[in-house]
This record gives sequence, C-alpha cells and structure tokens, in this order.
Amino acid sequence: MMRLALHWKILIGLALGVVWAILSSYLGWSQFTINWIEPFGTIFINLLKLIAVPLVFFSIISGVTGLGDPSSLGRMGLRTLIFYFITTILAVSLGLILVNTISPGKIVDEDSRIDNRIRYELWAEQNEIEVKDNIHFLQDDKYTDRIQRLSESEAQVVIDPDVQAKMEIANKTKEEGPLHYLEEIVPSNIFNALSDNTKMLQVIFFALFFGISLLFIPQDKGEPVVRLMNGIMEVLLKMVDIIMQAAPFFVFALLAGTISKMAGDDVSKVLEIFKGLSWYSAVVVLGLAMMIFLIYPFFLKLLVRVIPYNGFFKAMSPAQTLAFSTSSSAATLPVTMECVEDNLGVDKKITSFVLPIGATVNMDGTSLYQAVAVIFLAQFHMVDLTLAQQLMIMLTATLASIGSAAVPSAGLVMLIIVLQSVGLNPAWIAIILPVDRILDMCRTVVNVTGDATVSSIIAARENLLNYRPDHKTDDTFNPD
Ligand code: ASP
Repeated sequence: MMRLALHWKILIGLALGVVWAILSSYLGWSQFTINWIEPFGTIFINLLKLIAVPLVFFSIISGVTGLGDPSSLGRMGLRTLIFYFITTILAVSLGLILVNTISPGKIVDEDSRIDNRIRYELWAEQNEIEVKDNIHFLQDDKYTDRIQRLSESEAQVVIDPDVQAKMEIANKTKEEGPLHYLEEIVPSNIFNALSDNTKMLQVIFFALFFGISLLFIPQDKGEPVVRLMNGIMEVLLKMVDIIMQAAPFFVFALLAGTISKMAGDDVSKVLEIFKGLSWYSAVVVLGLAMMIFLIYPFFLKLLVRVIPYNGFFKAMSPAQTLAFSTSSSAATLPVTMECVEDNLGVDKKITSFVLPIGATVNMDGTSLYQAVAVIFLAQFHMVDLTLAQQLMIMLTATLASIGSAAVPSAGLVMLIIVLQSVGLNPAWIAIILPVDRILDMCRTVVNVTGDATVSSIIAARENLLNYRPDHKTDDTFNPD
C-alpha cells in the first residue's frame, strides 16, 4: 500500500478544508460546517494546547538538567536571546523598508485619504494628541464644510465591540508601568501560571529556576527527579505522536470551520474583503515570504551549512502547516519540537529550552506585520511619520512581539500599543481586522520557522547538531 508522508497528508487535509468551505458556502451549508465540522478543529487545538504547557514545563527542566552545568546554560541562553533579537530586528526593518517603498496605504484615492486625514486630526484634537507632521487640514478654510460634515458623522461612529475589547486588553497592558514586563515574568503562584495559556513566560521562569536548583542538590536525591522529568517528557511526546496521526482530518476541520465562519453562505465575501485590503495584505505576505525564503535560508547557509534549503522545509513542514492552520505558536510547539529534534537533528538539550522560549518571545512574523500595519494605516490616513516615529515603531514592534502571547490575534492586540506609541488612533485596527485572521495564519508560520532556524544555529555553534539528509521525516509520527 502506498504510504504518503504525513506532511503531504496534512497539506491535503488543508486543501480539502478550503475546498469544502467554498463548496459549503455555495450550497448554503456553512452553518452545518460550523456546527458539525468546526468543533473538531477546536478539539484539535485544545489537544495541542493541553500538551503545550506541561511540555514547556518538563522539557525545560529536563533540558537544564541535561546540560549538566549552569555555565553552559548561561552561554547558550545568552546566544539564544541575541539571535532571537537579531532576527526580530531584521524582520521589523524588512517590514519598514517594504511598506515605505510600496506604500500600500497611498493606493486608495486621494479624496478618501483627505477625509481620513481630517478624521485623524479631529480625533487627535479631541484626545489632545500632538500631530507631528506639517499638514493641518483643520486650519484650512478650504475644508470647512468637509470638516463640519465629518465631525458630525464621526460623532455617530460606534466602535465595534470586538475592537473595543481588544483596546481594553491593550490598555491594561500599557498602564502597568515600564517594569511591568519584568513583574509579569515572576509568578506568585505556579498553578495559576500553569492554568493560563498566556502566562508561558512564568512557566518558563519557574521551570528554569527549578531545573537549575535541581543541579545543585546531592546527586542521590536529584537523580530520581531527573529521571521522572525525562520520563514524563517522553510520555508527552508520545501523546503528540498519537494526536498527529489524526492531524490531516483535524486540519481539514479547522480550515473548513475558519473559512465558513468568515464567509457564511457567501464565499465571495472573503474575496471582497481581501480585495479592499489586497495591497496591504500583499506587502505583509511578501515580507513574510522573504523571511522564509531569503533571510532564514541565508542564516542557515552562513551559520549552519549542513542543513540544505529543501531539507529544512521538508523537516519543518508538519509544524509549518500546523502553524498555518492553528494560528498559534503555542499550540504548534509540541510538533515544532518534534520536527526540530527528530527531523533536523538538533539535540534535545537545545530544543528543550530554546524552542519553548522562542515560541513565547521570538515572533519575527508578528513584528514584521506590526511594522507594516502601522505604516499602512498612517499612509491610509495621510499621516507622514517622521524618522524618529519610525524608529519608535521599530522599538515598540520589537517589544510588542516579545509581549504577544503565542495565541491567535495576539499580534493585533499588541498592535494597539504600537499605534499609540506614535500618536495614532488605536481604533484603526478595525480597518485591518477583516483580513487579520488570514495574515495571522501566515505570520504564525514565520514565527515558528524563525524559532527552528535559531535552534539550528545554536545547535551548530554548540556542536549539538546531527542532521541526516536521509532522515525519514515521518519516522517521528509513524512509530511502527
Ligand atoms: N498568532 C501568532 C502566534 O501564535 C501571534 C500573533 O497574533 O501574531 O505566533
């Protein structure tokens, strides 16, 4: 019997999901799809998330104890953070260059941009925000009627409750002072941290602390604990193997459900939405594609050498397709770990702590998208950002991507903070909201690929990389 590799099966599931969604939309079955197919997608994400938190916890502890001495942990940790930082800065810069050269926000007609600009000035005036560039339509007599008309219509605008909710979350994050990030890392109760998927950094902190302390207790006492941790790790990975057997079906359900929810019984709606924002989406997708097809391969060639371009993608494709279907780096983490370890040959000592940290803090796709989105929205409202403001975006997009939880839409919430940092209206996220899910799927692929690239680099530097080109990528998931 012909056996198709798992990543092909997942890709087929993905394609069938799209076909099903289109068909069911034409036939008026989207409610059926949402009621009877989509729940399996949710079950799949739940299963993966179920594994993600304990996996982060136990894998970091077993990774730290596997290293044996705290000094190599320090060296590796520092290197990891440096590489994560470099790739994020590169991603933001690439986003800024692309959006400034292509200028997707300037493609709309001049008239609507003038309206948008006036609305922005009205909003800035109301909120006492200084407008930094030299255009001041509010003071221009030419526009008096228009200003009158727009301010009346602005007064009636109701903010979408979804946008409102996102703004509240973002504001809460922002209000908490400069050291808030640090405060957030140290949990006061590990069980609270373990029970909240967005508190992954706290879980990492506790696991690192626990693992390092374990190295300092007498061997006869520490040894059984280490063995237990390693054993639990193996069980969790086996659970991932089992879940992955059904991944093609689950991915089908996820895609069918996601698209049906967006389109309802009118699939042309998805295309319509996309068309309006097509230039913006195209720039984001172009930037993400450049990360995947140029920047990461360049790093691999320069710093890893042994892993060829094709081999890398073949090894990573189960994780990449999963990232695309789930829009969550955290849910994808268990599979990312398996792919990097078993298919790329990166030693467990590296994957067990470089990847969980990466899934939480290294989001190159998210930071690139945030840079593009902010500038696009500014262009769309005829706002010329100064160089200082663009540098500010670079800084805040980097921090916002670090602060984004590895779950769907987290990047969009943090975008609010980036917009506010340069005096723009956070409610503008409503404009890009319609295409955000699709772009979220794409940026999550980059987030996961970036983590895998950095772990290969660290492994190569530490001499802990054992890539075999003949490696059958599916061994991992077909344990027969
Ligand atoms: N969904 C992304 C992730 O999990 C985060 C984002 O919204 O950009 O990596």
